[in-house]
Amino acid sequence: MTHRSAGVRPTHLSADYVVVGSGAGGAIAAAELARAGARVALIEAGAWRQPQDLPHSILGTFGATLDQWGVSITRGRALWPIVQGRAVGGGTVVNSAIIVRTPADLFERWSSELGIDGLADAVWAAQDEIEAELEVGPTQPDQLGRHNALALAGAAAAGYPSHPTVRATPGCAGAGTCLQGCRRGHKRSADLVYVPQVLDAGGWVLSNAPVRRVLVQGGKAVGVAGRFIDPITGRPGGTFRVDADKAVILAASAAHTPTLLQRSGVRHPALGEGFRAHPGTTSFGIYPDPVDMVQGASQGWASTAFRTDPGYKLETLSMPPELVAGRLMGGGKALVDRLAAYRHMACFVVGIRAESVGTVRAGWGGAPVVRYTLDRADMERARHAIWTLARTHFAAGAEAVVPGVVGLPYSLGPDQVDRILQASLDPRHWVAILSHLFGGAVMGADPQRAVCDPRGRVRGVRGLLVVDAAVIPSNLGVNPQHTIMALSRTFTRRLLEEGA
Ligand SMILES: Cc1cc2nc3c(=O)[nH]c(=O)nc-3n(C[C@H](O)[C@H](O)[C@H](O)COP(=O)(O)OP(=O)(O)OC[C@H]3O[C@@H](n4cnc5c(N)ncnc54)[C@H](O)[C@@H]3O)c2cc1C
Ligand code: SF4
Repeated sequence: MTHRSAGVRPTHLSADYVVVGSGAGGAIAAAELARAGARVALIEAGAWRQPQDLPHSILGTFGATLDQWGVSITRGRALWPIVQGRAVGGGTVVNSAIIVRTPADLFERWSSELGIDGLADAVWAAQDEIEAELEVGPTQPDQLGRHNALALAGAAAAGYPSHPTVRATPGCAGAGTCLQGCRRGHKRSADLVYVPQVLDAGGWVLSNAPVRRVLVQGGKAVGVAGRFIDPITGRPGGTFRVDADKAVILAASAAHTPTLLQRSGVRHPALGEGFRAHPGTTSFGIYPDPVDMVQGASQGWASTAFRTDPGYKLETLSMPPELVAGRLMGGGKALVDRLAAYRHMACFVVGIRAESVGTVRAGWGGAPVVRYTLDRADMERARHAIWTLARTHFAAGAEAVVPGVVGLPYSLGPDQVDRILQASLDPRHWVAILSHLFGGAVMGADPQRAVCDPRGRVRGVRGLLVVDAAVIPSNLGVNPQHTIMALSRTFTRRLLEEGA
């Protein structure tokens, strides 16, 4: 059901379970419940597009698949974009489908610091199943393209371990456009794998249907309410209300789940606290021969060699010229001259395993306001990371590197690489984005410090769960989709077994 089929008349449905948000966490929960025979309504703010209907252009992608056109920003020392999916399938539509199992050290930390026990085996068992369902496998040599091959060779020459990424992209044609969605349908995103299972089991999928609030009566979540919107014009359509006999399950993302709880009148001292991210930034290498970074898997190379010390992960990223233009410095003729080197550029990226913590609050109109600034220790991680990436480029044969930090020269040669170690640590001098988000409604054993208990249940409201990145209480240091999906399946199974 969408804004068109619903029209302007109020819609009223009744289900056993209502799931809000159809991304990594929500789609798998809804499918699990539907397969168990429950009546499920999956409600998604974004539109449902088939792969062939995904836009060709970057501008179209931003409008059609990203939350707030990809231009919501952090409030803090620097204004960094927060990039999240807004579509049936959520972030899995526009991500690179890199699949990494949850590292054991996280479960140990959650147990010793937060009293969260008994998750590891269930999560890893769920990850075994998910890997089979998503046909996960390593990026093959013929899918790498020169871009990823250079990174592999550069890391080896620079002396640290790295590997082709493991992804949920069977038959990937190496078209390098994962960030715009895979128009060829090779990406096993949630909209293609899990959402249809809800319909097959007789459930409902409401798209273009942002939930405004969770309805709570007598201390129990009894449904949700909202209003359809036209995805092109943004005009509001008819209202909807979906009753939940058994439970309401929230998976609207680390930015939207906490604000939805706030808008719904849920009160808890930790609500909106504990927001974390893997801020990402880029390093371009300029090579003597064409690299053509959009030929080959979008993110076919990775290294976790620095995950725990000093705390970052490295990857490649195919960026189309429009995005590269936004990342290079300068304007006018200078920018055009710099862009002329596009075919010779390789783009390596870092995700900082930042320890800094921020907040999410419902701002004007209820939209999320994220306050987040990296502290000095995190900025030192970022600086070390782009130094490592520059060394990797030079080890792979680059002639120059574009470090992209204000105060450094536009490009550096091989004998200037250590100048990066003097780069400014002021976040305002860096260009970064946040695409891996965590927290805001975190789980934990302490009723005062954690909004949710270790099974994802919201404290103080019966029949209300959180199964997305908002419940994750620390930084992962690895790509989050697999952990989110497996946690969601684990919580959902416990809900089915033991009730809300
Ligand atoms: C460009 C990009 C590349 C990435 N690459 C990778 C990768 O390769 N591997 C990896 O592991 N991770 C990757 N990630 C991160 C990963 O996609 C996210 O961590 C994951 O999708 C988050 O899952 P989630 O369920 O918390 O939220 P999401 O997947 O963001 O889903 C939340 C959904 O809820 C909807 N929603 C929000 N508010 C409401 C509301 N009020 N009512 C109804 N619906 C609502 C949103 O529209 C959205 O569809 C990437 C992310 C991005 C943006
Ligand atoms: S790299 Fe291209 S073909 Fe492969 S999954 Fe991504 S978009 Fe599809």
